[in-house]
Amino acid sequence: SMSSSAISADRIAQLTARERARFATARPRSAALAARSAEHLLFGVPLHWMSDWGTPFALHVAHARGAHLTDVDGHQLADFCLGDTGAMFGHSPAPVVAALQAQAARGLTAMLASEDAAAVGELLAARFGLPRWQFAMTASDANRFLLRWLRAVTGRPVLLVFNGCYHGTVDDVFVDLVDGRPVQRPSLLGQVHALTQTTRVVEFNDLAGLQAALAPGDVACVLAEPVMTNIGMVLPEPGFWPAAADLIRRHGSLLVLDETHTISSGPGGYARAHGLAPDALVLGKPLGGGMPCAAYGFTAELAARCEAAKRAAPPGHSGIGTTLTANLLAMAAMRATLSSLMTDAVYQPMLALAGQLADGLRGAIARHGLPWCVSQVGARAEFQFCARPPRNGSEAAAAMDDALEHLLHLALLNRGVLITPFHNMMLVCPETTPADVDRLVEAFDAVLAELTHA
Ligand code: PMP
Repeated sequence: SMSSSAISADRIAQLTARERARFATARPRSAALAARSAEHLLFGVPLHWMSDWGTPFALHVAHARGAHLTDVDGHQLADFCLGDTGAMFGHSPAPVVAALQAQAARGLTAMLASEDAAAVGELLAARFGLPRWQFAMTASDANRFLLRWLRAVTGRPVLLVFNGCYHGTVDDVFVDLVDGRPVQRPSLLGQVHALTQTTRVVEFNDLAGLQAALAPGDVACVLAEPVMTNIGMVLPEPGFWPAAADLIRRHGSLLVLDETHTISSGPGGYARAHGLAPDALVLGKPLGGGMPCAAYGFTAELAARCEAAKRAAPPGHSGIGTTLTANLLAMAAMRATLSSLMTDAVYQPMLALAGQLADGLRGAIARHGLPWCVSQVGARAEFQFCARPPRNGSEAAAAMDDALEHLLHLALLNRGVLITPFHNMMLVCPETTPADVDRLVEAFDAVLAELTHA
């Protein structure tokens, strides 16, 4: 990759060893908890991904509030990971805490609606401009359920996705373009279905490829993030989305925008901010202020088709839903988040501060003469190891460098700053301060200085 021409692998290895030792020495309590958990938890963690952070052992949290997180060894961290967007409105935001406290003593789950259901429906319709909604516990489930609805209403089998996408643990999306050919992701465990038979994949920003993939007329829907945010970041080229939406409509297919991450764009998501009109929309992660909540919305026309499909089906299980979905506590959390946090007043300072963060990172990259770039989508920024923002998933993947990424993340963590693992994402929440941003930019600058002046 381009980065390896700028920075030597030896230097990365040398600094990584130093940072690993530094992390371990400063964190005896995390080390002890990691050792204790190793007895009864797979990989010593409650979710095996938690062992993929690049730290020598799992960092354990004591408490988190607003933009800050304190580990069990007493280190305070400026948190720009924010639970990879679950805590985008800050850790334990006050309106959500109050709503949870009020609801907690009045019933947690009943498999019945409360007054909050009607209120949340109204709030979602007003924010996102889609009139009909359903719920899930996670964005993964929301995508999975929506896919069933859309295959049912269209009677078409194929899902179309963009190369390098991520939409949660939805089996169907794990198909990659390798040398222009679709290949099932080899890392999937226990996958016994042939995914390439019902999933088609094209590059982002490739209208000709999209048109060719839609041409057979068997595509139920295109599932996409309006900006790719899970393979580094890939922005749509000007005019891409209007032209893509037109192609999708002309081929009798449906457009689903997954706004789970791009909800960082503003209170109505990227689609509202940029005038896109999807047939369906998916929201997850921060929708319940950190509680497990997700929602998906439909146009009136699509909602009518979904209801007709269910009515026309034989009685019995639809294959859609889970018992705790839309539970009383979740509805209270979403109502509080939508009414008190998903507002222009809350977003405006976040967007401004994320702009300062992106500029600060660009300044540091320029000072050290590195061929890297920074992209921003609202409250979210990403640095990538390529000189120009990538145009598609293949370019974005080519710019990734695991060893360099691990070192940067660990070195930032040792300097009091947490960023999102698996790529280079930083998120600003309502309580992030300019001082937090300075801390991030200064730490980044210091690490780049060490990397480039061996
Ligand atoms: N959609 C997108 C765009 C995501 O980024 C993610 C998670 N990173 C998901 C869906 C899945 O969310 P969850 O893991 O909460 O189900």
